[in-house]
Amino acid sequence: MPSPRFIFVIGGVMSGIGKGIASASTARILKSKGYKTTCVKIDPYLNVDAGTMNPIEHGEVFVTEDGMETDQDIGNYERFLDENILAENYMTSGSVYLSVIEKERALKYGGDCVQIVPHVPEEIIRRLNSAARKSKADFVLVEIGGTAGEYENILFLEAARMMRLKDPKNVIFMLISYFPIPTKIGEMKTKPTQHAVRALNSAGIQPDFIIARAEISLDEPRKKKLSIFCNVHPEDIISAPDIDNIYQVPLNFEKEKLGAKILRKFEMKAGGRDMKEWARMVRRALFSKKEVSIGIVGKYFGTGKFTLFDSYISVIEAIKHASWQFGRIPKISWLDAEVYEKTPEKMKEELGLLDGIIVPGGFGSRGIEGKIKAISFARKNKKPYLGLCYGMQLAAIEFARNVAGMKGANTTEVNARTKYPVIDLMSEQKEKVFSGKMGGTMRLGAYACRLKDKTIARRAYGTRTVYERHRHRYEFNNALQNILESKGLVTAGINPESGLVEIIELRDHPFFLGTQFHPEFKSRPLKPHPLFREFIRVAITKKK
Ligand code: GLN
Repeated sequence: MPSPRFIFVIGGVMSGIGKGIASASTARILKSKGYKTTCVKIDPYLNVDAGTMNPIEHGEVFVTEDGMETDQDIGNYERFLDENILAENYMTSGSVYLSVIEKERALKYGGDCVQIVPHVPEEIIRRLNSAARKSKADFVLVEIGGTAGEYENILFLEAARMMRLKDPKNVIFMLISYFPIPTKIGEMKTKPTQHAVRALNSAGIQPDFIIARAEISLDEPRKKKLSIFCNVHPEDIISAPDIDNIYQVPLNFEKEKLGAKILRKFEMKAGGRDMKEWARMVRRALFSKKEVSIGIVGKYFGTGKFTLFDSYISVIEAIKHASWQFGRIPKISWLDAEVYEKTPEKMKEELGLLDGIIVPGGFGSRGIEGKIKAISFARKNKKPYLGLCYGMQLAAIEFARNVAGMKGANTTEVNARTKYPVIDLMSEQKEKVFSGKMGGTMRLGAYACRLKDKTIARRAYGTRTVYERHRHRYEFNNALQNILESKGLVTAGINPESGLVEIIELRDHPFFLGTQFHPEFKSRPLKPHPLFREFIRVAITKKK
């Protein structure tokens, strides 16, 4: 088997310019040329995984099929590649240091002095090779977090440099850089990128490609200038102007023949596939006229719209994928659950205008009474409702309180002494929580869910058993299952090994469904998730 080719993606000038999307798009292009492609994300921080970080500040915690809590970029890779990315393809400085130190403690270094260089880069290289082997990839895109010239990611650049030295034919570097157009000056500036390339050079790395993120495309004079100063051929400088929809990016890159240019560097041929289906999806997303309005009820204070968007990115993408399939543009509103606690009138007014309501995942007590009120509204007014994880748990509580007459029913996450613990800490979680073992210890990753006949879920999926991804510590309390079912709650999906309730539904309602898992993690632009698809379909039908 030929050895895999590595493409390192490194940022220049500043963060937040779409390095993840650029990596995912490049991967999509190589896949469309007939090559098995995978992506690896490197985060330079010391957290061992992304699970312990606040999503409002750092973006969504994405969960892989095999239960790793990762950065949201892994979600982008999965959506663009339409493939699962496994835990192996994610690393942080913390996880790398941890393995080096654990190996040292296990005498695995045979008496050597264990040093930052070469032992840390060697561990990084070992992991990259192992990820490549496991995914049997022809191409591995490796996105290194942060920007060139930073202190934090230098050991990862060092690893990349060492890999190129060892195998120059199989490693290339792509710099994703930013080109500002200062308003008072009115012209695009290349100087910051020239500095970024110099910073990268000082780490021993020369980029093969520069992806130029800017408001508009680079013109020829600027490409020429950049080429001379940065030592990159003008044709290897690829424009990446601002776009309306992230899924346009691979199509834009292909306008500049990025795929063929990369293949040429590796002396490889392009296969026969194309991106027609992808382009059709993008057209539907850009040019559909009709709308469907979906409200997401959560706790959102002190956050701008931007961070909100980032912390629920998979939910938003899942709504989009499903809506586009029906030729609709989703109009998503962010509804503050805390406001609903005080002003029920405002709630009725806002929710009344929607075609569908979602309560997404969450933790803690803030805003939950407002969410429960919104769920009550959806149930009584027959508004399509989709509850995701916490949104399912709160729907069970709402039903217990207001239909089954269990006054004060709650989750023990919020009230440990409730008379009706409808949602309770999973037994295997108790020891972990009490001993403070919090990182990476939730119920994580894919578990089987057996679907009951004649349920919304069974009809939507069209199969009997599905595998969905989890991230929670609390669960539906089976001690109360019979009594809640006798009052009309449908437990539509059950985990066959543990008996845990994975899906609840209501009858006599056009669409009322909650999942203990996170279906949003498995939605793909070309394959909308069945539950989101059904939710949006009913929302549209009801609208008529
Ligand atoms: N807080 C709830 C739990 O831990 C729900 C978690 C979630 O929504 N991801 O079970």
